[in-house]
Amino acid sequence: MWRIKKDLLLDAIHSAKRYMPAEFICFLGGDRKKERVEEIVFLPSNTSETSASIDEYSVPIDETLIGSLHSHPYSTNRPSSQDKKFFLKYPLNLILGFPYTIENIGFYDQRGEKIGVLLEQY
Ligand SMILES: [Zn+2]
Repeated sequence: MWRIKKDLLLDAIHSAKRYMPAEFICFLGGDRKKERVEEIVFLPSNTSETSASIDEYSVPIDETLIGSLHSHPYSTNRPSSQDKKFFLKYPLNLILGFPYTIENIGFYDQRGEKIGVLLEQY
């Protein structure tokens, strides 16, 4: 089961709020074998004012990138069909639904199925 520190999620939520009403996208760095998220990876120009598109070609190929996180400024945390295609790249994918709280984060695996993730306090 994947593990992630609650503080990292709060950081991501904080950033996502600043990007409202635009969608916020970032990546998760960590250890695939230990199934542990260690950091949030912010990439330049990874948001869009108008669409939820993710520029796949701007994503570096890197073994330590193990997941993605993006926000849905006006909807739930359910993945779109486009999201599901993108999810194929990473074993762990988070969608932050509106309003932005930890409770509104959806955790999905590579196939877009909901999975349980252990939130670590500290
Ligand atoms: Zn989406």
